[in-house]
Formats: sequence, structure tokens, C-alpha cells
Amino acid sequence: MSIPISLGSHTNLTPSTWTTPIEDQFDVSSFPSGPEIPVAQQYSSSFRPGQQVSYRQTEDAADLERILAETRQEKLSCFRQGAEVHRQTRRFAQNLIRPGMLFSEFVEKIDECNRRLIGANGLDAGLAFPCGVSVNNCAAHWTPNKGDNRVIKVDDVIKVDFGLHVKGNVIDSAFTVAFNHSFDPLLDAARAGTEAALKTSGVDARFSEIGAAVQEAIESFELEVNGKVKPIVPIRNLSGHLVDDYRVHGGKSVPIVKCADSNYMREGEFYALETFASTGKGRVVDDGECSHYMLNPNAPFTDLNPSARSLLSCIKKNFGTLAWSRKWVDRLDPLKGKTWLMALRTLVQKGLVEEYPPLSDVTGSHVAQFEHTLFIGATGKEVLTRGDDY
Ligand code: MN
Ligand code: MN
Repeated sequence: MSIPISLGSHTNLTPSTWTTPIEDQFDVSSFPSGPEIPVAQQYSSSFRPGQQVSYRQTEDAADLERILAETRQEKLSCFRQGAEVHRQTRRFAQNLIRPGMLFSEFVEKIDECNRRLIGANGLDAGLAFPCGVSVNNCAAHWTPNKGDNRVIKVDDVIKVDFGLHVKGNVIDSAFTVAFNHSFDPLLDAARAGTEAALKTSGVDARFSEIGAAVQEAIESFELEVNGKVKPIVPIRNLSGHLVDDYRVHGGKSVPIVKCADSNYMREGEFYALETFASTGKGRVVDDGECSHYMLNPNAPFTDLNPSARSLLSCIKKNFGTLAWSRKWVDRLDPLKGKTWLMALRTLVQKGLVEEYPPLSDVTGSHVAQFEHTLFIGATGKEVLTRGDDY
């Protein structure tokens, strides 16, 4: 028996493509691009920050501009490669997921598919952060640790959030799976929120306007559960974000609620635009055992015991400043068969590694999420991760 998923259906499946690296599926430098939206249609705001700086173009300036344009093209090609892997892996994942399956098995198969398609190779190309499969009231940052035997249930609302990078250019995109169609309005709310964020984004788009548009879109939905109508709200302490080289969170946060934020988008930036729709309080707090971690590159030097030192060098070598999970460290076996959890605790206590624990809304609530990676160009914006599913 097949259980319909609340996502677009995929009929033209060619499982053979799931084993062929993207580089072998396409001509180099011709990875498919996302739909480009021309600048005139970008957004209707009349906001223009300051005067355009004009300067006489010397030969040096022309040279510099050419180099910048070439670098931009190279980066875009890396992003498009990661985006195509995301589309193919999520199609695989959407057909694989079913109640009764272990979350750990689902995540392992996604990781495996991603590694093969991206041609994982050290820090040159690979997985950008752990595959999140946060369930129900948990909005983000949950993936199974070793020994976890949680099983996917028919009434679960699961946020599948994974990322890839090519030369540090990070693709970050997520979708929500629910087998029970009574959750459809919640998924529709998150989808509408993310579409509103994409629509209002562009060169000079103000964050305050994006947040307001997202909130309005999400709050236009409600969810009926057992005859009771529940309002749907955005999660105000979660946001979209800039992506930077080898860093999934690049410093600027894009709000998903109405607020006074004077930041605006600039040409050449890459954003992960994600929105969260919740039947709870619209606020998340740390919840439960941590699975996601990241190096703190600004931590001051400290003396370490030998096992902490070994673990730290393993993390630096394999993940750099990218996020990682306990499961990924297990695969690397940094202390040659010895448990490395004490060493991890030391690195966390000394501030060298930061924990990103699961983030949840109140018990009994449900959260949905959709996320795309977007390029802000001078003449338009490109929704890099757009597919026929979302
Ligand atoms: Mn994400
Ligand atoms: Mn993100």
C-alpha cells in the first residue's frame, strides 16, 4: 500500500540517476539554473538606499569588474550544482519515506544519495550540514544520534532539511512531509510564507517588509483539528539567513514576522529563505539531546588533553566551519575505536565547539517549514533550489 505524501507527486522517476554524480549528468558549467525573475518584477517597493556611486572607469576598474563577474559565474555554477543534487535527492527521499521506517535509516539513505550525487570529496564538495528530520512541535535541528530507534509515524509532521556545498558554496533547502492530509493547511501556510519571502526579496528589499509579508501570508491560514479551529502563526525567533563561504549562517537574519529591521538585501548576496508555520505559541526553545554541532573559529587557544586535541583536528580537517552531526563523527572514528563523547564535552566546555540543540514549540503543537536558496542578482533573482515539488 502506498501512502500519499502531501507533496507534488513524481511520476517520471529514474532511479538510475540517483547513482550518477551530477558532474557526469551534465556538461561542466551548464548545471540547470533556477527560474530567474527579472528586476522589474522583483518587488514593488520604491525604497532606494542612497545615491548610486558613479566613477570613471579606468582600465583597472574594468579589469576588477571582469574578475568579479567571472568569480560570480564560478560561484553560481557551484550553487547550481548543489541545487540540482538537492532536487534529485529530495525526489528520492519523498519516494522513500513511509510510516514504520526508522528515522535513522531515512537520514542515512539521504546522506548516502547526497554524497554520491555531489561527488563528496573532503572540503571541496559534500554535505553542508546534518540532515534535519525534526518532528511535530520540533521545528529544527533534530537528527537521530547513534542508537536512536525512533520510528516514523503516520501522523508525524516531518521537516526534511538538508544542505550541500561545492567549494564552500552552500545550498540550504527544506520541505515538510505529512501523511495525514488534515495537516495540509499547515503545510500550505509554510509554503505560502516562503513564497511571500521569495516574492518580496531582491536588490534593496527591506527585511522589515519581507517579515511583514511572511507573517501576513502565514496567518491567513488556520487548521481544524477534531472540530476545533487553531490559528497558524510564524515562529518569531526563527528566521531566514545569508549564506557565506563554508558558513550556512552568514550573519544577516531575515525575519519572518513584522518588525522594525532596517537591513536590506544587496546585489551579489545568497540567502536561505525559510519560514516556519506553527499551531503553537510561535516561539521555540532548546529541547532535548543535541545532535548538531559547529566549530567556533573565534575561540581563544586553550590547552587540551590528547583525545580532545585529536577530535578537534578531525573536526577541522573534515568539516572546517561547516555544521556536523554526532553520526558523521562516528563514521570517522576519531579516537580509533574509543568513545569520543568525553572529548566532545571538553571541546564544548572550552567554547571550541558550539551546540545547536533541537528547537521546539510547545508540546502538542505542529510546525511546518519550507526553504529555498536564493541569489540576488543585479538584473533579477534566481530561486536556485526551485523544483516541480516546491
Ligand atoms: Mn535549512
Ligand atoms: Mn537555513
